[in-house]
Amino acid sequence: MMIPGPVEISPAVRRAFAAAPPSHRGPELIESFGRALERMLAVWQAADDSRPFAFSGSGTVAMEMAVANLAEPGDRMVVVDTGFFSRRMAEILRRAGAEVEVVGRSPGDVPAIDEVAETVAAGASPKALWLTHVDTSTGVRLDPAPFARLAREHGVLSVFDGVCSAGGEQLDMAGWDADVYLTGSQKALGLPPGLGLMVVGPRAWAAREARRAAPPPLYLDWHSWQPVMEAYRAGRPSYFATPATNLVLALEVGLGEILDQGLAERPRRHVETARALRAAWAALGLSTIPLRDEVTAHVLSALHLPDGVELRELLSAVRAHGVTVASGLHPDIPRPYFRIGHMGWVTGQPELLLRTVEAVARGLADVGQPVSAERAASAFEERLASSAAR
Ligand SMILES: *Cc1c(COP(=O)(O)O)cnc(C)c1O
Repeated sequence: MMIPGPVEISPAVRRAFAAAPPSHRGPELIESFGRALERMLAVWQAADDSRPFAFSGSGTVAMEMAVANLAEPGDRMVVVDTGFFSRRMAEILRRAGAEVEVVGRSPGDVPAIDEVAETVAAGASPKALWLTHVDTSTGVRLDPAPFARLAREHGVLSVFDGVCSAGGEQLDMAGWDADVYLTGSQKALGLPPGLGLMVVGPRAWAAREARRAAPPPLYLDWHSWQPVMEAYRAGRPSYFATPATNLVLALEVGLGEILDQGLAERPRRHVETARALRAAWAALGLSTIPLRDEVTAHVLSALHLPDGVELRELLSAVRAHGVTVASGLHPDIPRPYFRIGHMGWVTGQPELLLRTVEAVARGLADVGQPVSAERAASAFEERLASSAAR
């Protein structure tokens, strides 16, 4: 299953997830939850005064939580539009009553930092700058550091949707001085779906404390969860709403795998996987939706369909070779396109990546494209070997 989430998970994560459900107040779960929260701070490379949250819900619930705590009616908010999920964030903000300004480029690119700076500086100071680290609809990746710096320079909070990037792309919340970085469990973190996760820095927490509007919905309020997270970190039972116990067990293991791999090695492996796959896509004559290398994600490939190929036919031809890939997901990209996820555990499984290359190549051949699966496979393997040799 090579879609951009949910993803294939490691055997150890699968075992943890398959445990008999523990009591949510028992010592096994509490200890596991506490360790998972500490590991979150480590994987996020977050400062010690940050607060980790893990709760039931998909990535969208994490987006809702960030907005519910930070946005008050009338607040000016700036959203950097790099695709479908940035637009979702803008919609959530509008529903919270914020005055939303969207800065975007055509799909496939990231707006220049100067353009975003102009929007931030024009008019009343925004409360926050909202960014999508990797937009999974387009495969566009932005560099968080300069955007977080821009936000700091203007006294504006920076909030990152990292649903597709945490656990795959470089993540350095303290180094960037970012204020909120949120994600979901089922993408580059390499877990089954069902958990929303976020780390909240002190300035964002202060903004919640200073809130004058009505409090957020109870389930989404950081105040509802903060005492529970604190209790778990201190090894004490606590209850606000029942956690997804088995996912918490899996989270502890999955984050442990990332830390064992190393916080530099993990993104490096995603970069090398992406480069090797891109060599294969080029050998197959496929071009990417992202317009430039510097804005191309390392956790998925978003690829134009060759002329004359019908999307459904290609997806089922690839599936007939044992690999599931996904369709595109951006309303402004007129021609159908497709996406291949390569994040998490599979980045350490070259034979599964090779099978993916071969399935895509054979699928293209089946729908009449003059491609060579052998050439694509050797482009992939040569590129991977050359990065391993370095
Ligand atoms: C998948 C995704 C979401 C939505 O997450 P769900 O778990 O599907 O709710 C939001 N943002 C980004 C960048 C994503 O990739």
